[in-house]
Amino acid sequence: MAWDPLSPEQRELRDSVRELARARIAPRAAEIDESHEFPWDVVELYRENDIFGLFFEERYGGLGTGTLLALIAVEEVSKVCATSGLILAVQELGSLGVKLVGTDEQKQRWLPRLASGEWLCAYALTESGSGSDSAAMRTTARLDGEDYVLNGSKRFITNAGVAHLYTVFAKTDPDAGHSGISAFVVEADTPGFEVARLEPKMGISGSTTGELTFDEVRIPRANLLGSEGEGFKIAMRILDRSRPGVAAQALGIAQGATDYALEYAKSRETMGRPIVEHQLIQAKLADMETECESARGLLYRFGEMVDDGVDGPELTKASAMAKLKCGDVAMYCSTEAVQILGGYGYIKEYPVERFMRDAKITQIYEGTQEIQRLVIAREMAKESRAFLLAGVA
Ligand SMILES: Cc1cc2nc3c(=O)[nH]c(=O)nc-3n(C[C@H](O)[C@H](O)[C@H](O)COP(=O)(O)OP(=O)(O)OC[C@H]3O[C@@H](n4cnc5c(N)ncnc54)[C@H](O)[C@@H]3O)c2cc1C
Repeated sequence: MAWDPLSPEQRELRDSVRELARARIAPRAAEIDESHEFPWDVVELYRENDIFGLFFEERYGGLGTGTLLALIAVEEVSKVCATSGLILAVQELGSLGVKLVGTDEQKQRWLPRLASGEWLCAYALTESGSGSDSAAMRTTARLDGEDYVLNGSKRFITNAGVAHLYTVFAKTDPDAGHSGISAFVVEADTPGFEVARLEPKMGISGSTTGELTFDEVRIPRANLLGSEGEGFKIAMRILDRSRPGVAAQALGIAQGATDYALEYAKSRETMGRPIVEHQLIQAKLADMETECESARGLLYRFGEMVDDGVDGPELTKASAMAKLKCGDVAMYCSTEAVQILGGYGYIKEYPVERFMRDAKITQIYEGTQEIQRLVIAREMAKESRAFLLAGVA
């Protein structure tokens, strides 16, 4: 039985998401993976059951139930289908810019449509020449009268072609480095905006990942988020809050793989007994379960911190630690699950090879594991633990 810090009301909501995932999404998961088609039926299921509402405040049509529960919803869905879990995580990622720095007018204009799921959204930071080094971006935005005019392209954007609202980062002052970047909202039907292509991928096959192009895209000045030049800070603040969504997706994959391997190990017999009675298999299962619980501790702690109003460097570090740990645990547990199933783990009839392919991306997007380590170490370097050196000559 996993550790559970939820209130009875939160537990009820968690259980209804869990039930929905098991009854309605699990039977579709293999098909979504094989078809490589975006699962609009899952979006419709989320709309009908107000699942997008978990990510939004009540005043914008959401449920206002907080970050911890939203992360748990991503985890529950990802236990059975990582593509479907990602749809929820990206609704948070793509809307965070408006939530964090949007004016009242901007929030009223966009958040209710995102809270109901009428519109999906996306976050467009990465370009072909700038991933980890996002400040090296080349997309530009120039002010022309009351409009900004965007030119350039973005690569690897989740929800490309299915989102209606894109949070886009572009240089308003190309010579000013980090402080020359600004953040904008671009609606999908704006002339000059196009999805140039979609990428075939190793995993999360039902999710679209695409290239966006901006050719003299004219958007009203009212679509600027925050002030000119604040875009890099906004991008990083968003990632602080959104990375745990990927961590929740990763933890769901890890726990889903562990649960499947456990049940399989109880039913598969070798040398006259179920493999769950062989000590080497027991050791694997014990390590997988322990890793999941330790990852869950970091993830849920992050959710509780946000719900308690914590912000700033402490949150940055907690977010990076949750993403780092959960991503590595997803890869570890899904690989071990394949091993526990032996040859059956490697074939598509069983879900664990899908879990393993889906797990890999959680170590890459929203900042690679290497970048998370840089973030954690940078925050550590600012902390003082000098008392430990007292008395050392
Ligand atoms: C399926 C998918 C979905 C994605 N969705 C989105 C999205 O919705 N929005 C978006 O903006 N982006 C998205 N991305 C982009 C993703 O965030 C980037 O791919 C990722 O941040 C890494 O950037 P890169 O691919 O340019 O790798 P690079 O930055 O070129 O890194 C290459 C390697 O070098 C390492 N490295 C880089 N710099 C350092 C350093 N300073 N120290 C040590 N190691 C370093 C990296 O960890 C990596 O191992 C997505 C990518 C994929 C594949």
